[in-house]
Amino acid sequence: MSFTQYTKKIALVDCNSFYVSCERLFNPKIRKKPVVVLSNNDGCIISRSTEAKALGIKMGEPYFKEKDIIVKNNVQVFSSNYSLYGDMSRRVMRTLKRFNSGIEVYSIDEAFLDLSNFSDDEIEEVGKEIRTTVLQWTGIPTSIGIAKTKTLSKVANHIAKKKQSGVVSLIGIQNIDPILEKVEINDVWGVGRQLTKFYHKNGIYNAKQLKNKSNTWVKKSSNVLSSRTAMELRGISCIDLETTSSKRKSCVVSRSFGKRVESFQELKEAVVGYALNASEKIRSESLATKTITIFIRTSPFQNRFGYYSNSKTIDLPISTNNSIEIVKAVICGLKVIFKNGYRYQKAGVMLSHLSDSTNSKNLFSSEKDEKINNLMKSIDDTNYRYGRSTLSLASAGVHKKYNLKREYSSKIDTADFHSLPTIKTI
Ligand SMILES: [Mg+2]
Repeated sequence: MSFTQYTKKIALVDCNSFYVSCERLFNPKIRKKPVVVLSNNDGCIISRSTEAKALGIKMGEPYFKEKDIIVKNNVQVFSSNYSLYGDMSRRVMRTLKRFNSGIEVYSIDEAFLDLSNFSDDEIEEVGKEIRTTVLQWTGIPTSIGIAKTKTLSKVANHIAKKKQSGVVSLIGIQNIDPILEKVEINDVWGVGRQLTKFYHKNGIYNAKQLKNKSNTWVKKSSNVLSSRTAMELRGISCIDLETTSSKRKSCVVSRSFGKRVESFQELKEAVVGYALNASEKIRSESLATKTITIFIRTSPFQNRFGYYSNSKTIDLPISTNNSIEIVKAVICGLKVIFKNGYRYQKAGVMLSHLSDSTNSKNLFSSEKDEKINNLMKSIDDTNYRYGRSTLSLASAGVHKKYNLKREYSSKIDTADFHSLPTIKTI
């Protein structure tokens, strides 16, 4: 007699070369070509297509170091276009939400799914269906690893990356030691550089060796987190999914400037822009903020001009997600910390102590609040339809000279009608 098995099943869905895949979506000419995407201000290589990897271009390398290979092989280079990647990420996550109730969006291109409600026999097929659906609906290729714990699903994902099918399930495999033996200890989820050194010193070089170490040893010699990792490698789930019902606690928008900024006016325009972005973000998640932090700093590498870094936190009497109030607070904060005579390189705004805005109506809510909420909603809707910053506040400025250096940007904005691709018929 056989029973249908319903064990715990966690899938890690990871988008392949995510930024490159986003650029390719709107530019079919580069589908089969080597492509790389650069970090802010065109500094380092942060995403590579398979073809670029095959040329030996390394992840995280400064662009100038790889320039020879890039020019010689006609590698397509793109500046990062975060509004495009952010939007595509939301589309992928929305698609994934269709499959189950438990999802943890882990990063811009990764999510854990709880697939425990599917049986052991069908799980691999479910994985394949998820992969096909994401590809069909968003155009983004993914790799999916499925296992009993988060740590093992990361391992499975590692293997899936190299497989044609893109899906690997470790569910139902009795002995996973041969698989774990091939996973280097520093590739195990949660094992950083320090811990790797420590494990190496103690003769642990791969995941199998950590799994088979006695729990007492792991506990005694390192910390609670490492023993959780060891347990997870044994198939005992210790790290729960942080699902969307446990909403985010803070929202940060910060950028490095393409050129140094010195005047109060320019700095103000930048931070007001970040404040607007952050307010829009929390409104879209029905959250309101009670604490606003603004921070500015100069480059730590330009000693000639002196280093300065400061922040100011403002606590509001009542939570809000109203752009006007948030911008007012940010400008107040900036006035306190701004110092003349410095060349600023980075600034940012953080909204924290976030709470559900739907039940933040209080005794002091008035008709005026209602009107402001409606105004915010129309701004968001308009910007969604006609492109970011169609409607904004005057204090955000009009000419943004300090914006990121983005020499090779594809300039695609999925929230902007003007950058829709055009199709020519012959
Ligand atoms: Mg990825």
